Amino acid sequence: MKEQNIRCSACTHPIGLQSFYGCTECDFSLHQKCAECPTRKWHVLHNERLTLVTNKELEVFDCYACKRKSNGFMYKHGNNSLELLHCGSISEPFTHPSHPHHPLYYTLIEKKELCNGCNGREYFILKCIEGDCGFVLGFTCATLPQVVNHRVDDHPLSLCYGEEEEEASGKYWSYICERETNPNNWFYTCKDHLACLHIKCVLGDSSGFMPRIVATCWTRSFEVVLNDSVTRPFCSRCKSRCMYPINLKLLGTSSTYICSNNCASHWRGTAI
Ligand SMILES: [Zn+2]
Ligand SMILES: [Zn+2]
Ligand SMILES: [Zn+2]
Ligand SMILES: [Zn+2]
Ligand SMILES: [Zn+2]
Ligand SMILES: [Zn+2]
Ligand SMILES: [Zn+2]
Repeated sequence: MKEQNIRCSACTHPIGLQSFYGCTECDFSLHQKCAECPTRKWHVLHNERLTLVTNKELEVFDCYACKRKSNGFMYKHGNNSLELLHCGSISEPFTHPSHPHHPLYYTLIEKKELCNGCNGREYFILKCIEGDCGFVLGFTCATLPQVVNHRVDDHPLSLCYGEEEEEASGKYWSYICERETNPNNWFYTCKDHLACLHIKCVLGDSSGFMPRIVATCWTRSFEVVLNDSVTRPFCSRCKSRCMYPINLKLLGTSSTYICSNNCASHWRGTAI
């Protein structure tokens, strides 16, 4: 298997150019930094220590801070699970390159607050406490990868923290979904900064799944497959060509594809 296709079973992300431990018999691999995560640790969201669960059954869980689905390793306390490398790795003071001059802190809030990354209302937030700065990042945006490889570009895409809109530039176009991008929100851009790709379109909602395994979502079992063939399949729910990096293929079928967890949750097709 090509090195770039090997994924870390802990965080589910590609091994990429990072150092890793790999099994010589199968493709089980772990980033060094993931393998070295402590088995018990304190976390800003908890008063008690969380326990690392290696999730050998590859059970699909919802991270309770950001609601992303994953089947990698998790930090667990009671029924609450956090993804190992995303929300589970958040510690204080939290520094983020989008707000380099001030540290951020987890803040318990009663009403959801606006995230500076996506302009969505979030409950689990990291906040700047410097003067009246008021910068807020939701856990989801705080843990987005800074660079991602994507089929639309030979070079890695990088996370851009929004920009002032250029009048009538025609630049704010997400050519994955062929819709406009709001430049005030974060987006992914390519090397020459000519693309403004929606985060949702670049990552999809299954980026926390290990490919080539079976994931049970919404009572159905799917094979997790990379959407990297020349002709991308059509989604049985939304009837459009699958555009996200990972597809869900109904187990036991050869061509029943679902493009996302969102479509899987609304799909009324025959269960097998
Ligand atoms: Zn990892
Ligand atoms: Zn092995
Ligand atoms: Zn999370
Ligand atoms: Zn956000
Ligand atoms: Zn600040
Ligand atoms: Zn898009
Ligand atoms: Zn779909």
